[in-house]
Amino acid sequence: MVNPALPFNNERAQWYWVDGETLGIHWNDGQENQYLLSFLRNHCPCALCKEDQKNPLAMHKKTPGQPKQLKALEIQPVGRYAVQVTWNDGHRTGIYTYARLKEMPPLDQQR
Ligand SMILES: [Zn+2]
Repeated sequence: MVNPALPFNNERAQWYWVDGETLGIHWNDGQENQYLLSFLRNHCPCALCKEDQKNPLAMHKKTPGQPKQLKALEIQPVGRYAVQVTWNDGHRTGIYTYARLKEMPPLDQQR
């Protein structure tokens, strides 16, 4: 399966795929971030997932229905400040703001 297009290089950030499960952003202020898709999915900022993140049992309940390999089917810009990800588990309500993405921990702390 091919990674979805990243159509939103702009004056703030250049996006790229590191590999099938890792997304990279080169910020134009010089900061570099890479993200595991599973980390992004598990830290989905939407209201529903935030509730689940507070309650580990709810996360476990969800697991059996999730596909074996997490994939991002589509990544779309939301204005110039955020992106919306459509996951292959059917979820797509999370809006990842650039500010939030910049604050995420480095790749080696995402496992
Ligand atoms: Zn969510």
